[in-house]
Amino acid sequence: MKTTIVGYPRIGSLRELKFESEKYFRGEINEVQLKETAKKLRLENLSEQKASGLDFIPSGDFSFYDGVLDTAFLLNAVPKRYSELDLSTLDKYFAAARGYQGKNGDVKALAMKKWFNTNYHYMVPEIDDNTELKLSGTKPFELFAEALENGVKTKPVLVGPFTFLELARYTGAKNKEDFADSIANVFVEIIAKLSELGAEWIQLDEPYLVKDLTEDDIKLFTNIYKAVLSNKNGVKILLQTYFGDIRDYYNEVCSLDFDGIGLDFIEGKQTLNLVKSNGFPKDKILFAGVVNGKNIWKNNYANSIAVLNELADFTEVVIGTSCSLLHVPYTLKNETKLSDTYKKHFAYASEKLIELKEIKKILESENPLETEEYKANAALFAQPRSGENAEIKDKVQALSDKDFTRLPEFNEREKIQKSKFKLPLLPTTTIGSFPQTTEVRSTRAKFKKGEISAEEYESYIKAKVKDCIVLQENLGIDVLVHGEFERNDMVEYFGECLDGYIFTEKAWVQSYGTRCVKPPVVWGDISRAKPMTVKWSSYAQSLTDKPVKGMLTGPVTILNWSFPREDISLKESAYQIALAIREEVLDLESNGINIIQIDEAALREKLPLRKSDWNSEYLDWAIPAFRLVHSGVKPETQIHTHMCYSEFADIIEDIDNMDADVITFEASRSDLTILDVLKAKNFHTEVGPGVYDIHSPRIPTKEEIKIALNKMLERIPAEKLWVNPDCGLKTRGNEETIPSLENLVNAAKEIRSK
Ligand code: GLN
Ligand code: ZN
Repeated sequence: MKTTIVGYPRIGSLRELKFESEKYFRGEINEVQLKETAKKLRLENLSEQKASGLDFIPSGDFSFYDGVLDTAFLLNAVPKRYSELDLSTLDKYFAAARGYQGKNGDVKALAMKKWFNTNYHYMVPEIDDNTELKLSGTKPFELFAEALENGVKTKPVLVGPFTFLELARYTGAKNKEDFADSIANVFVEIIAKLSELGAEWIQLDEPYLVKDLTEDDIKLFTNIYKAVLSNKNGVKILLQTYFGDIRDYYNEVCSLDFDGIGLDFIEGKQTLNLVKSNGFPKDKILFAGVVNGKNIWKNNYANSIAVLNELADFTEVVIGTSCSLLHVPYTLKNETKLSDTYKKHFAYASEKLIELKEIKKILESENPLETEEYKANAALFAQPRSGENAEIKDKVQALSDKDFTRLPEFNEREKIQKSKFKLPLLPTTTIGSFPQTTEVRSTRAKFKKGEISAEEYESYIKAKVKDCIVLQENLGIDVLVHGEFERNDMVEYFGECLDGYIFTEKAWVQSYGTRCVKPPVVWGDISRAKPMTVKWSSYAQSLTDKPVKGMLTGPVTILNWSFPREDISLKESAYQIALAIREEVLDLESNGINIIQIDEAALREKLPLRKSDWNSEYLDWAIPAFRLVHSGVKPETQIHTHMCYSEFADIIEDIDNMDADVITFEASRSDLTILDVLKAKNFHTEVGPGVYDIHSPRIPTKEEIKIALNKMLERIPAEKLWVNPDCGLKTRGNEETIPSLENLVNAAKEIRSK
């Protein structure tokens, strides 16, 4: 038996590539120095993978920024505005990734999008009518040769032609079909070159196959691959899929002349059944993704071995990861502070290499169940988790319909709240955070390091809250916020106040380019350890007669931005978190906070990749989790929620079903079509579509805000419209924030008076 991985992280176990790239961007090191670091990191990965005995070692999974962007450069799919810049190839590449402003020009970056259902983002390739796809790079060849020089014949990994064409944006009249022949030709050329260099296997990643496809999509896939596979030049081609199953296209895929097919047995809920009910071609090798490439828990060998044994009846099987290990941190070796109680349950990328090796060893031994590796793993999984909390489990068990239903119903509440708050028409508010200046951040850092006392920190934050309230009163805002100065991050802050959460030290995962995130881990059953925000919100409310919004993060967002448990369902974890946040909501209410905002910034993010799974696998618990948080409040308490995007036309009813009283969302960068949908669907929740873009330092004029508001008023009744920026202000400076909000308030006032 052999082992494989789909890909490996590349940012460096201590984020070396991030730091070196940032130095390069600042002009502190040159291209040669940056490339040296990159090479050093690649060789480290290579020797680690070699030492672990991995059979199929990938090459080409390295990237200076993003693998899709690398592919665009390799295929000559680079818009002229970048390729014509008078810069080195690497700098043209970075210009497309990050934008360029300097003596050679001024161009914005390509668009960036989330990579399927992960928190990784790829650069969206742009193809116009003049784009001529042809081989125009050397990365796969250079990296294959580099590894070969270092004693490893790797399996080159490339984003496949089908996924590439599906993910690209077409700015002219031509569409993806028009590029099918040319992209197939380039891949044939790439394969031929790699064959010449000595490659035996090439992996083509086609994750797009786990989405819902049209007949035309499938035709595109088959056309491209019929062409590619009739010119393999003696190289074996592995079609690699991940992030789900390829249910409807399974037989189609199996009928093509691939030499290996990589399937995901973790997220692909139907994968095993597909193989069992349709069989698997004997002349192909099945690359079975049984080790989870997206989560940090140890593999349960008993489960993996059961799957692998079933598959072995059909054909030769290679043991692999479910997707690239890009989505997990590097190594537990860097977690020096985390206790072994936790760590023994974890496997990051480098530990997953060991798991593959152990599974292989177990399967090859005469008495698999008697091997040390198997016994140790079984013993670990037989141990109870230390984080169990029977009381919480019972509470979740006991939930019934009424816990998810807020009474009275919306229309009645709306009347009660209108007469209670007596807000003007088009009430103004913000999304929660005010500028987190370097001073705020460094004061928090000092507190965390013990350089200032808890009292000093608290009085500093209180002073900030006070200034913030005074500022908003002076600006004339109607519904105030406390400013969120006490928060580092909208998930970590809450995680730290919840029992059941744990935090890692170095578990960084690449989010895009040089940006990494360090998601907290849902370890056990979740409960509220202590009040989380009551102190700050009630202090803020004590300073003013205007309503101050309590500010919380919702259960779905908290869960989506964490590493979730695998021993209980996401639904159960979400309900546990919801119950904890619910306690906080009720606590805020009883402490005199009458408006409470529960942010669900990431609600849309984890929608399943196939529409047919949206309800059963996600919305059916995500929306109730949110309802559970607020269903216990009084009719006159107003519940707000916030989303960082406006692309929710397709789940509009579900959003309305969250049963909030007000929802604010991003709208300033979109074309307001969402407002037409709200109107058409008779959306009842009051809405605050953002009137200006906080992601840009630009100060919006009063006039343009008035124009935006007038457009909104054409589609939304004035009684339902709120006026606010499109997201929190924490990344902005005061110098932009204050005049922007001044213009916002004045625009609202002028329209109101009409
Ligand atoms: N209340 C948060 C803030 O204002 C919301 C952040 C977000 O939507 N990402 O910062
Ligand atoms: Zn937001």
